[in-house]
Amino acid sequence: MKKHLVFLSILAVTAAVIIEAASLFSEMSEMPTENPGKGVTEIRMLSRYWPNLKGTAGDTEVFVLRGEKPGASMLILGGTHPNEPASNVAATVLIEHAKVNEGCLYIITRANRSGFTHNDPTEGYPQHYSIPLPDGSKRIFRFGSRATNPVHQWPDPDIYIHESGQALSGAETRNLNRAYPGKPDGTLTEQIAYSIVQLIKTEAIDISIDLHEASPEYPVINAIVAHNRAFELAAVSMMALDMEGLPFSLEPSPVNLRGLSHREWGDSTDTLALLMESANAIQGRLRGKTDEALIMTAKDSMYVRAAQLGRLYVDYSEKGHPLEERVGRHIAGIRAIIDAYNTLDKGKIFEVEKFPEYGELQEKGIGYFLNPLSKLLFQRFTA
Ligand SMILES: [Zn+2]
Repeated sequence: MKKHLVFLSILAVTAAVIIEAASLFSEMSEMPTENPGKGVTEIRMLSRYWPNLKGTAGDTEVFVLRGEKPGASMLILGGTHPNEPASNVAATVLIEHAKVNEGCLYIITRANRSGFTHNDPTEGYPQHYSIPLPDGSKRIFRFGSRATNPVHQWPDPDIYIHESGQALSGAETRNLNRAYPGKPDGTLTEQIAYSIVQLIKTEAIDISIDLHEASPEYPVINAIVAHNRAFELAAVSMMALDMEGLPFSLEPSPVNLRGLSHREWGDSTDTLALLMESANAIQGRLRGKTDEALIMTAKDSMYVRAAQLGRLYVDYSEKGHPLEERVGRHIAGIRAIIDAYNTLDKGKIFEVEKFPEYGELQEKGIGYFLNPLSKLLFQRFTA
């Protein structure tokens, strides 16, 4: 009798854990609502550029901000890696606040949407974080995984062979930024990559920027990585940013590193391909407590110590690297690239407004540039 009771208790506890875990996992499929501003003239789905993507977990919104006058075009990609929050938040601020006068801006806030539907439990990551708005409300953002959800693409091969012949570890087969230029009949990740390349080709995008974050111990940080054709554009932007007190390093896109946006977009289309990185402690291996505060402030005594020991590629003090700073750097970087493009006189003009200034963003906070939601905090993701 006693044996039975012990068995039943274990069964009940196991069931409770399974139900709780399943409900937490299921919740991840509910995407926080976005509230595009008046600058957005159209919302279309990425599957428009590759219809096989329709109805899959890889389909995602493309926000179009078309100016009254024709001009140059730009693509901004946030959320390639859903565990790099400044990338998703910077793209979201722009769809909710920015306006285009001349030219056309295409923004994807969740480039690997599937990656937002799970996170890496062994990392102890929080599932979301929230940004306060001036009216007292808050906006919730999903913290996801670097890679496509295995529920949507499984199993991983032992070795991921890119079409160039490059061999990487099997898990990289779900990394969007190793999948370019993508394959129309490939894995879900390769099909997302293919759709993005088709968007760049179809819309003849002049400048394409992929937003990322990197751990403070990674050498490519606070950087602009530029394809060879975009190097001059990046160099002029970087000098202007330096004068604003926002130093960026300039990294040439390595020719033999395949599958990455800055390499394959530039090689397979006419676009000027760039990638930007900011400093994100929650991705790093040296971090201490992993919680929402670490996403928002990146204050971490372990990283302060690592900086003192000269182990980092970025300054690190008790002030951390708040999300405002990282989002501000991305937006200032995009703005500088636009100004440089106009200065270099490529025959077209791209004119934007209401891009939050770096100082303004630090002073007022990110929430000032996001729109309040009347209700619906989450939208059920159906795929
Ligand atoms: Zn990344």
